[in-house]
Amino acid sequence: MTPKFPHAIVIVTLSCNMKCKLCILDAPYYRKPFHPDIDFLKETTDRTFAIGDYEIFEFNGGEPLLRGDFAELFEYALRYRDNADIFKTVTNGSKEIRGDLIDVWKQYGDKFYCIIDNYGPKLSPCAEENCSKLKSAGIPCELRDMYSDSKHHGGWADFRVDEIKHTVEEAKAIYLKCGQAQKLKHCCNIINGLLMPCHMQFKLNDRGICEPLPHEYIDLFDDSEPLEKKREKMRNFTDIAEIQFLTACRYCVGLYDGIERAKPAVQLTSEEVKNMQRIRQSKGVLA
Ligand code: SF4
Repeated sequence: MTPKFPHAIVIVTLSCNMKCKLCILDAPYYRKPFHPDIDFLKETTDRTFAIGDYEIFEFNGGEPLLRGDFAELFEYALRYRDNADIFKTVTNGSKEIRGDLIDVWKQYGDKFYCIIDNYGPKLSPCAEENCSKLKSAGIPCELRDMYSDSKHHGGWADFRVDEIKHTVEEAKAIYLKCGQAQKLKHCCNIINGLLMPCHMQFKLNDRGICEPLPHEYIDLFDDSEPLEKKREKMRNFTDIAEIQFLTACRYCVGLYDGIERAKPAVQLTSEEVKNMQRIRQSKGVLA
C-alpha cells in the first residue's frame, strides 16, 4: 500500500519580486536564484509522488506567479489529484492571477487551496482583487493579513543565523517544542531535487555553514537509494523518538508560541541586496 505523509512542498522558483530581509528561504540573497525548467519540476513532482501520497502537496516559491508556465505545471500535476488531500500554493499578492491558472485550479475542485498574503497596498496591490476573483470562480482561497495590527501570528519569526547557538541537548529540547517539527509535521521543502524536513537546512547548507546528515534529507534524484529507504526516512521525519532533532536545530531559535515576532516583508534596498550577495559570494557561498 502507498504510504501517506503529511506535507511536501516543491519549490518552483526562488526568484521573487519582493526583497524581504527575513525571507524564510533567503531568496533575495541568491545572485542566481533557483529557477529550473519545467521538465525538471515535472520530474521532481513524479519523484515526490513516487515516495507516497500526501495530506498537503504544494507548489511554492519564491513568488510562484513569476513562472509563466505555472498553469502548465498544475495541469501536469492533475494526474496526482487522487494522491493528495489538498493541493496548495501561496502568493504574495503582488501579481495578478492569470486566467489559465484559474482554469486549471478549478479542475482540482475543492482539493485546491490558495493563500494570498497581503503585505499592504504598496507591496500586495493585487491581493484583494485576486482573492475576489478566485472566490467568484469557486476556488477556495484565504486572504492572509500580514500587515495590520492583527496580522497572522503577530508577524514573522527571525530565522537569520550565522553560528551555532545550542548544545545537542538544547537542540533536542527546542525541537520538541518547535512548531515546524511538531505542529506543521515538517512541511518538507524540495529544492533542486533535495527534500529536507526544515527550511533552515537549506539556508545553512547553501551558505556552507552546516550540511544535513544523510538521515536528514532525501535526494529524490539518487536512484542508488532504494524507494523503501526514502520512505523510511520520510516516516522518521515525523517520528520524534527516531529523529530527536535536526543538526540545523543547533543553529536555530525554533518556532513556538511566545517567540519574538518581527514585521513581515521589510524590504532590502537594491544596494543592500547587492552588498549581501557580494559578501556571501566572496565567502564562496550562495551562487
Ligand atoms: S531547524 Fe529550527 S525551525 Fe527547523 S525543526 Fe529545528 S528548531 Fe524547528
